[in-house]
Amino acid sequence: MTKKKNYSLFDDVCGFVDEAASMMDIHPGLLDQIKQCNSILKFNFPLRNDDGTYEVITGYRIQHSHHKLPVKGGIRYSTHVNEDEVKGLAALMTYKCALVNIPYGGAKGGVRIDPKKYNATQLERITRRYTAELIKKKSIGPALDVPAPDYGTGAREMAWIVDTFEAFNPELINAKGCVTGKPLSQHGIAGRTEATGQGVFFGIREAVSVEEDMAELGLTTGLRGKKVIIQGLGNVGYYSAKYLSEAGAKVVGIAEWNGGIWDEKGIDIEAIKNYQIENKGFKGYPKGLFILKPSDLLTYPCDILVPAALENQVTAENADKIQAKIIGEAANGPVTQEAERILLEKGVMVIPDMYLNAGGVTVSYFEWLKNLSRVSFGKLEKRYDMEKYRKLMGTIENATGEAFTDEEKDALIKGASERDLVLSGLEETMVTAYHDMNQKRKEKAIKSLRTAGFILALERIRTSYLDLGIFP
Ligand code: GLU
Repeated sequence: MTKKKNYSLFDDVCGFVDEAASMMDIHPGLLDQIKQCNSILKFNFPLRNDDGTYEVITGYRIQHSHHKLPVKGGIRYSTHVNEDEVKGLAALMTYKCALVNIPYGGAKGGVRIDPKKYNATQLERITRRYTAELIKKKSIGPALDVPAPDYGTGAREMAWIVDTFEAFNPELINAKGCVTGKPLSQHGIAGRTEATGQGVFFGIREAVSVEEDMAELGLTTGLRGKKVIIQGLGNVGYYSAKYLSEAGAKVVGIAEWNGGIWDEKGIDIEAIKNYQIENKGFKGYPKGLFILKPSDLLTYPCDILVPAALENQVTAENADKIQAKIIGEAANGPVTQEAERILLEKGVMVIPDMYLNAGGVTVSYFEWLKNLSRVSFGKLEKRYDMEKYRKLMGTIENATGEAFTDEEKDALIKGASERDLVLSGLEETMVTAYHDMNQKRKEKAIKSLRTAGFILALERIRTSYLDLGIFP
């Protein structure tokens, strides 16, 4: 998972936006306002190590668009973090939220560290200090800016963030909504951990369900039997692989930063994940072939390639060699603008990041709503619904003279749990957004789903500004 010189994620995102804007009627001033980042915060702070040495840590929080508040987006811990990357990722959050109709502006944060090199105590110190910097600058809060996990962070870091924020804001009743992706015990929500991968699954499932689109690619509809290669078996890659294979797809390749695995018979996702955790990689895994240069796997034969690691992976250098018919961008920015041109020319379908990985922010939105209302979903109505369905079934049994089986009763009477409702809301969001985007693509007679997604997002953001009378 290499990064090439002179690559700018932010320029790439702006390039995609310009392409979409060229097919719309949008005031150039408004377009410029939409493209720029509204606020850029960079700070350095000292970290005292256990051995008494010190180092200076660099952090960012960039708010791309205030057209809706709060702004929303994850915090990344990686050595690749720099201003350009965070700007690009923040911008992508704006367009992602607009496309899937989640009422937030976009933001992103980052800390330039390799989290693998620090122990939990050091990471806690870094995270709490990072949060304090955000509090000082009023760049975090349930009404202002709501971070979440991203590459290199997870529920543990979010717990430290909410704890620090609450310590500084003891009187704020909505303080729990200052960050999402928290552990359940810290008022997180059921299903957030797997949400992005679950959304990737729903998105790809929708894409392969459209008969005329699949016919154009020379594929049949449905996931069953489709060969999949995944890049990155972290949170997003793992859950994407798990749900895709549970639906009948065959994961034949997995690339990780320290080596890949290739097995045409299909890889058992649980087994390989457990092996990876125990052995810190795939080397020595008893099945399949170990691939020394993981980036090679991107060009192996498959139906669906799912890059779920970092940006800038499919570039002008390897796009031509890609054999997949569909690329599902689970990561943010894995396919460059130049690469996409080559892929579309070859007839490859690219399901864009701004749509495909929106499951994370969608379930974050549900978590934030739960925190603001301070009640978990389903708590009030579950028993009431169960009773109503029980009575309804009794009435049907009396009227027909036929009894339901116990299985039917269980399935019909069961009231919705928080997890059921989260899943239902996520599925609805992903299904609706896919067909909106694909319809826009067909309406504009273009090949690129991404351009269609950006047009839709820009149309919605433009409406926010126009309704305020800003720009003609
Ligand atoms: N980091 C995730 C993303 O890139 C989730 C953001 C969120 O939940 O706010 O979409």
